[in-house]
Amino acid sequence: MHSDYINLPYMLYADKDGQIYDHPYLRMAGFSGSSPAVITDEDLIPMPEFSKLFYIPDCPPIGLDPSTGESKTVAEIEVEGIVTKCFAVAAFLEPGLVRSHLPAVDYGPKSYILPMWAYTAVGFRDEGYLAAGFRIEYNHKWDPNNYDDRELIPAIRKYQGEYKAGPLVEHLIHCATDNHCFAAKNLFLKRWEAPLPVSQTCNAACLGCLSLQLDLFCEASHERISFTPSKTEIVALAVRHLEYALEPIVSFGQGCEGEPLTDYMLVADSIREIRKQTGKGTINLNTNGSWPERIREIADSGLDSIRISLNSARPEFYKAYYRPKNYDLTDVIDSISLSREMGLYTMINYLVFPGVTDQEEEVEALSDLIEKTGVNFIHLKNLDIDPQLYMKKMPAPKSEAIGIKQMVDMLRQEFPDVELGYFNQPVERKDVLK
Ligand code: SF4
Repeated sequence: MHSDYINLPYMLYADKDGQIYDHPYLRMAGFSGSSPAVITDEDLIPMPEFSKLFYIPDCPPIGLDPSTGESKTVAEIEVEGIVTKCFAVAAFLEPGLVRSHLPAVDYGPKSYILPMWAYTAVGFRDEGYLAAGFRIEYNHKWDPNNYDDRELIPAIRKYQGEYKAGPLVEHLIHCATDNHCFAAKNLFLKRWEAPLPVSQTCNAACLGCLSLQLDLFCEASHERISFTPSKTEIVALAVRHLEYALEPIVSFGQGCEGEPLTDYMLVADSIREIRKQTGKGTINLNTNGSWPERIREIADSGLDSIRISLNSARPEFYKAYYRPKNYDLTDVIDSISLSREMGLYTMINYLVFPGVTDQEEEVEALSDLIEKTGVNFIHLKNLDIDPQLYMKKMPAPKSEAIGIKQMVDMLRQEFPDVELGYFNQPVERKDVLK
């Protein structure tokens, strides 16, 4: 037995009904991009309770032979004389955790696109599941333990009793109860970060868009908002939340909408009116950052913080994922710089994928972006997408992958003033009403 592998968790597999088993001998393996990548004990964490397990139909798991260190594809297994087809198993980690390895899977037999989840390598040892990842931020405001739906329904009824519910509130009731959106639940629980979705259109076509799948790769996980809320309802909802909620943030740019910059004047006019009525809390904008001049207009209106999404700091990788219309990565980087110049608390929503994000060239490009823009905070978000689809669509790697954890350690060392985390941060703006 090879000492490096003997203590690794056992490989998991599932049968055709999705029943999950641990293999009697083979150990768990992981992928970086499309290639096997060694997993060590340092990469493993007990899988937190609100994580999910998936099995991947038609796709055999790949395990590690602890005596040789070789990878083994396991199409079937014989247990007590019964031969069972084996399918790979993956985890989806709860918020605040960054995955370091993809599951080790033979995707050859697969003819469909997996739904949008951040598939993560997972194994079994000592009566527990162990996943390949690490915690980048703990925030009680996003801890699933603090979201009890037995409190939600009475809170929604109370909210409806206190305020006249327009189409936006009705939309957010659906988001809170059917899509289980934590931000929407917060609106009715009167605390923390609440959503302000406004836009039906977008000037990008992300492969992993949560609200609209143009190529029908797979089902979108959210229905995109089908109307444009009125300024009156946006302002009323936001002022109520900023005035009365606990540690309030209101955020434009949600998973259930397009790109808010396509409705930038509605956003800017709403913020101006909100700030006339209250100076409390944080007004945030989640955006693809495609229009610097529209961001200038919104920043001028009283915005406090901004979160600009990107999957890569390299133009060809950015283009392959966002499929932008009439803009490119240069515009996005200009928006990040402009946001800093205008005093916004500036965050990037960095969509992390092991084997792509940690390529040496990507780490260099990201470092250049940080130096150039002076960004305050980097969200390290696991990218929810079918790993095989993403690797097929991304340009071929021209440099080695150093490991996601190693990349984070390097960022911490090189940029000690840049915060790394997972969640939007409340921002105090003392000068709003001066
Ligand atoms: S920028 Fe947002 S709304 Fe637009 S395609 Fe991408 S994920 Fe979808």
